[in-house]
Amino acid sequence: MITATTIAEVREWRRASNTNVGLVPTMGYLHEGHLSLVRRARAENARVCASIFVNPTQFGPNEDYARYPRDLERDAALLRASGCDLVLAPPVDELYPRGFDTSVDVGGISAPLEGARRPGHFRGVATVVLKLFGVFEPMRAYFGQKDAQQLALIRKMTCDLNLPVEVVACATVREADGLALSSRNSYLKPDERRAAPVLHRALVEAERLFAEGARDAGALRAAMRTVIEQEPLARVDYVGVADPETFEEVSADIGGPVLLLLAVYIGVTRLIDNVQVP
Ligand code: AMP
Repeated sequence: MITATTIAEVREWRRASNTNVGLVPTMGYLHEGHLSLVRRARAENARVCASIFVNPTQFGPNEDYARYPRDLERDAALLRASGCDLVLAPPVDELYPRGFDTSVDVGGISAPLEGARRPGHFRGVATVVLKLFGVFEPMRAYFGQKDAQQLALIRKMTCDLNLPVEVVACATVREADGLALSSRNSYLKPDERRAAPVLHRALVEAERLFAEGARDAGALRAAMRTVIEQEPLARVDYVGVADPETFEEVSADIGGPVLLLLAVYIGVTRLIDNVQVP
């Protein structure tokens, strides 16, 4: 596996391996969720590339950019073992040189839920992903359902801008107790780690109500909120019931498939999760 730090190295490698590439963009501190994307890419493409870049433009001023966990050496070993051919781990000024002044706004889908709580977040995500598509020229790019709004936003950008990339959605990988794997789980103290599966329990409860015939979006939101509120270390940021494509919130009766979504603080750590029903 090649470890590149510059765009020029990727372009040079890309000229030599003129074949179909699968790309897995990440912020590093890799876990089985990330590696499931790499393995899927490995199965579907001649070459697999990953990027590791804690993208400053997608973090708000009071968010965890500075303390976001980083371990490039361990990440590189995991990527190599998962069949990755090249990883790009650039310094910030490689992607944002002095004078950089372009950004991508993906309209309505950026506004609700994560977009409302994290102003500018999705502009940062869309911009960096478009740049990575330009650098790697992948045939396919792999994203986790765990970040459902991000996935839908990238699909929308790819469609609206006619990008020649197939966006592949990958299922959320979870711990045995239901907690979705996340690099941010490393922030959790032992008692917080024990509390964190409450996100999944809330989703499972809403799923159960839906399976029993509940179709009132407000009732499902309330049910998720009730489960979270029973956990003393947890604080709801939002609970949502939204259209899986547009992310418009469903206000009354649920007609088609919807995403049940939540963002919850466990102590100071903000975690997100979602499931689709039916
Ligand atoms: P991140 O490093 O958190 O930006 O994540 C990089 C990619 O891995 C994104 O497409 C995420 O949606 C995906 N991902 C993160 N956690 C998981 C998980 N538990 N299961 C599946 N994919 C995940």
